[in-house]
Amino acid sequence: MKVAAKLEHITEQIIEACRKVNRKPEEVKLIAVTKYVSIERATEAVEAGILNLGENRDEGLLSKWEVLGDKPKWHFIGTLQTRKVKNVIDKIEYIHSLDRFSLAQEINKRAVKPVKCLVQVNISQEESKHGLTPQVAIEFIKQLQPLENIRVEGLMTMAPLTEDDSVLRNCFRGLRQLRNQIKELQLEYAPCNELSMGMSNDFTIAIEEGATMVRIGTALVGEDG
Ligand SMILES: *Cc1c(COP(=O)(O)O)cnc(C)c1O
Repeated sequence: MKVAAKLEHITEQIIEACRKVNRKPEEVKLIAVTKYVSIERATEAVEAGILNLGENRDEGLLSKWEVLGDKPKWHFIGTLQTRKVKNVIDKIEYIHSLDRFSLAQEINKRAVKPVKCLVQVNISQEESKHGLTPQVAIEFIKQLQPLENIRVEGLMTMAPLTEDDSVLRNCFRGLRQLRNQIKELQLEYAPCNELSMGMSNDFTIAIEEGATMVRIGTALVGEDG
């Protein structure tokens, strides 16, 4: 199926999820995760009007960036190795996966202007998931204060793989509550307005729980049927 057709369907679902909870669809940024797909498919997505692309590896980002440049905004959504920071730092709009101080230091050192970061939190506390525990996340954000090129725009999480809507909802709600706690600290470098949560399987629930960014791969740009 063409990306344009999938985009139309996803957009309808976003509008419907927003309507349910009285939110405006403009509050939700749609990020097409192109990590599994070809450069041609990513190009098709941009031509269909998608403004934001997400990649989880520096190679994937760089090879697509060579072709698409700054036409879309780039989001780095995967574990970022410290030594790879310099390759991507001047190409990306957001890093969704800030999860350790050494990474923050490297970003701070390499950046020429403040970088929009989201701190990755492991709300579900699954062993397999990356990210800080909610307890540690607040302390971590406080420690970032001296790093003048780090701006904490919000939080990111990945929900557990489950069909159980209540588990998903609790996870997203937990991230929102943590975000609210951080906002209350009124840290100048951590406005923390963004909630990056929701993927192909769970984005409508994430939007109902306040997502401001959804990261959708398979359902939006998947090359299958
Ligand atoms: C792959 C990936 C996604 C998109 O996953 P889909 O289930 O294909 O929508 C979103 N976020 C992160 C961090 C990912 O690695």
